[in-house]
Amino acid sequence: MARRRMVYEGKAKILYEGPEPGTLIQFFKDDTTAGNGEKHELIDGKGVLNNRLSEHFMEGLASIGVPTHFIKRLNMREQLVRAVEMIPLEVVVRNVAAGSMSKRLGLEEGAPLPRPIIEFYLKNDDLGDPIVSEEHIIAFGWASQQDLDDMVSLGLRVNDFMSGMMRGVGIRLVDFKIEIGRVFEGDFQRLVVADEISPDSCRLWDIETGQKLDKDVFRRDLGNLADAYTEVARRLGVMPRSNGSNTGPKLVH
Ligand code: 5GP
Repeated sequence: MARRRMVYEGKAKILYEGPEPGTLIQFFKDDTTAGNGEKHELIDGKGVLNNRLSEHFMEGLASIGVPTHFIKRLNMREQLVRAVEMIPLEVVVRNVAAGSMSKRLGLEEGAPLPRPIIEFYLKNDDLGDPIVSEEHIIAFGWASQQDLDDMVSLGLRVNDFMSGMMRGVGIRLVDFKIEIGRVFEGDFQRLVVADEISPDSCRLWDIETGQKLDKDVFRRDLGNLADAYTEVARRLGVMPRSNGSNTGPKLVH
């Protein structure tokens, strides 16, 4: 059997060449990092959970007409996606003050924001992904004004959809990060949500208790990360209820 070609390895995922031109296979690793890789652990089953959760969110988005790179899940750890040209920015949407915004602006974590706030960060590990303004983005050519408008619109649509879905299962969507890619169709390009949407890239708080169900559990040493992600998956109905035997995550087909 021919060995498949690795296209890119990131901190939590690997991209392989897909079966057809214009496709890639996205493999979800158990590697969990924080602080730009300073803290690193393997968390058993995390890749399986993120693969399944990202599929769930991307399929939901597609069902309301938000374009994504997702084609289909292939197995426990892999999904088939469209190859896209990644825009070198992280788009963060915030509903509630937390994390770096709280630090930067001296806002109490948990303070509701007057409206969803969108921020852009340059994807650059050496610089620690610095926040950038729309002026920087246009001046340095990372994206056009049209791309920016489309990214804001995609960010807000993802926010509305994800906030509603999470609220339905008793979870507050505090903030999240998405990455966006370009696909070319003839003379036209359009932007699609790419990478992943998972508890690695969202802040998810239980509405009743405030319990954190996202990667902050790992970043801040608050408990077992796989248990937190399993709880999110269980509430969303993509994992069976625990039967008490601790045999790791199981997928619902
Ligand atoms: P903050 O800027 O407060 O650290 O993060 C804002 C939101 O974006 C959080 O939900 C966080 O998980 C997500 N986020 C920001 N940068 C990254 C990143 O480099 N990787 C991942 N997985 N999520 C990020």
